[in-house]
Amino acid sequence: MKKIKTLLIANRGEIAHRIIRTAKALGLETVAVYTEPDAGTPHTKAADQAIFLPEVAGRGEPYLDSERLIEVALRSGADTIHPGYGFLSENADFAEACVKAGLVFVGPGPDAIRLMADKAAGKASMARAGVRCVPGYDGEDQSLARLKQEAEKINTPLLIKAVAGGGGRGMRRIDNLAQFDEALASAKNEARNAFGSEDVILERYLTETRHIEIQIFADQHGNAVHLFERDCSTQRRHQKVIEEAPSPIVDADLRGALGQAAVKAATAIGYVGAGTVEFLVTPSWEFFFIEMNTRLQVEHPVTEEITGLDLVEWQLQVADGEMLPASQADIQMNGASIEVRLYAENPSDGFMPQTGAVSQWEPPVGDGVRVDHMIVTGNEISARYDPMIGKLIVHEKSREGARKKLIKALLDLKLSGILTNRAFLLKCLAHDSFIGGPDTGFVDRLLAEEASDPAGKTNMLVAAVLYWLECRKWRAMPSDWSSLGNAFRTITLVFGEKEISFEIRANEKVAWVKTDDHPDGVRITLETEQAEITRATIEDQSWPVSVWENGGETYLDFGSDFAVAHLKDPNPANQAGGSADHFVKAPMAGRILSVEIKAGEAITAGQTLVILEAMKMEHRIRAGQDGQAEAISVSVGDQVGKNDLLVSLAS
Ligand code: ADP
Repeated sequence: MKKIKTLLIANRGEIAHRIIRTAKALGLETVAVYTEPDAGTPHTKAADQAIFLPEVAGRGEPYLDSERLIEVALRSGADTIHPGYGFLSENADFAEACVKAGLVFVGPGPDAIRLMADKAAGKASMARAGVRCVPGYDGEDQSLARLKQEAEKINTPLLIKAVAGGGGRGMRRIDNLAQFDEALASAKNEARNAFGSEDVILERYLTETRHIEIQIFADQHGNAVHLFERDCSTQRRHQKVIEEAPSPIVDADLRGALGQAAVKAATAIGYVGAGTVEFLVTPSWEFFFIEMNTRLQVEHPVTEEITGLDLVEWQLQVADGEMLPASQADIQMNGASIEVRLYAENPSDGFMPQTGAVSQWEPPVGDGVRVDHMIVTGNEISARYDPMIGKLIVHEKSREGARKKLIKALLDLKLSGILTNRAFLLKCLAHDSFIGGPDTGFVDRLLAEEASDPAGKTNMLVAAVLYWLECRKWRAMPSDWSSLGNAFRTITLVFGEKEISFEIRANEKVAWVKTDDHPDGVRITLETEQAEITRATIEDQSWPVSVWENGGETYLDFGSDFAVAHLKDPNPANQAGGSADHFVKAPMAGRILSVEIKAGEAITAGQTLVILEAMKMEHRIRAGQDGQAEAISVSVGDQVGKNDLLVSLAS
């Protein structure tokens, strides 16, 4: 490296860790920054220096405080800043301020960032360069009347997108124009909070499409190449959860055409550095530009795996003024790679982010298995940051080989204390639609298919484990059947709003659960270690068991499935003095963005009561029943904890 000697990474977690790894391999000095919740996390330990960013009243999130980061960089002796992804990576003012302060910014010039950070301007410039964009409205007139008029022209299905949006935030699909006003207000609200701008564009919502993106690289000498495609069609809430390279549906011709369009897009705006040009590909193989990301992407590892290249190394070389390390003809792809994003979230509760401490974390290891993460046992997952806690990436000769390897890696991951999307990811990977090559509607269809089966094995496992725990708590666990005779007891499991009753009996090692299909009971064998259940077996199928408590609920993780439930107290006197619908509580810790009702107001079921912001997302808390708002316990700006009372409704 010529200019770059000391690199400050203006980011946290797995991305900071990832960048430090390459910087060290290149012989650079590394400087990490961290805030209070991140003290002692792996990225702070991996760097040569770690600088604490205390909270300063009135200055907001320290990781976003550009002035302070530049000051810290200069003070630490850094000559270069890598912004990672998220946070300041697509902030043109920050890129500009770095350069003004005499620092190298690892990323494109501020003009390219500014252009592409604005979905409207980005689309307009691509259209000028001859790259086809999704049809819609991206004009400056943001009046409600004009937006409605344009929405009518485009018709449904329609997509509202925040001009400054990212990560699927500030985006709302509309299937009936009567929903337009509420969806627009909600998209604007989320966009204002997440990005500081509430302008939107409207697009025709294209169905049955694939999200295919092209990784490009350009240097300061006018050279530009692409590094093939990534298929990121497996998404929830328009946010990627599984990414792979190459795409199972892209053939050599389409790959060539997409690659060419992406390089044309980059060259047209004089782009420098790593970038991703995103397209939607229709069932008839037409493709439309949606946006360009002017940074390294979360999913860059799959490209690294199939090309054998280190994209962070390329970024640093380009930032240092070198030529691209390879020409288009030199870049080859080999095998297949799939990545899953592990999120602390509850897939069966609208992917609600989860907070808490990770009580066990042992990532899988093996040939062709890579885990990019930031976790050590005991880590707190805080509501302040994105709920993505890590990524599992595999590489194999074939896609099918990679898929199987990833399933095994996910099952081998030892993780407890916090609910994640692991079981959901396993369901996706095992599904025929994924095997065949999913489109962007795949996850929604999978969720719709997932009508739960009360006699299902997961529920039997939950019944056995909860009953066993209850007996142990009251020291009422028989070591054999004789003390209980053959008596079955009826227990009721509460899964959120749903209750399921089972007849059950258990001793230390075996539980019997009766269902309609098995009137004599199904035998469940329980393996224990140090008074904890570690494994359960029904017939010849066996599951690892990990159990923890949080907010009055028991979290049960069976590796390939999970549940959140509690046993209903058989004594009505001990039950809460009203139904769940009567007391509306915070589903997770967060900040109250708005209170949508007034005390005394008549409420209809489904009406939004309060909007809660947690983990950078907006959550609408709705009434479960008709009634009257008896008392409102929170006001705008309040921080609330999980299960804090928000509103009481009288029926
Ligand atoms: P963000 O910047 O929030 O990531 P994108 O514009 O990249 O938003 O879109 C994210 C995802 O939303 C896409 O991968 C796709 O699944 C979906 N999407 C975006 N635009 C459209 C569209 N016009 N029609 C259908 N789906 C779309």
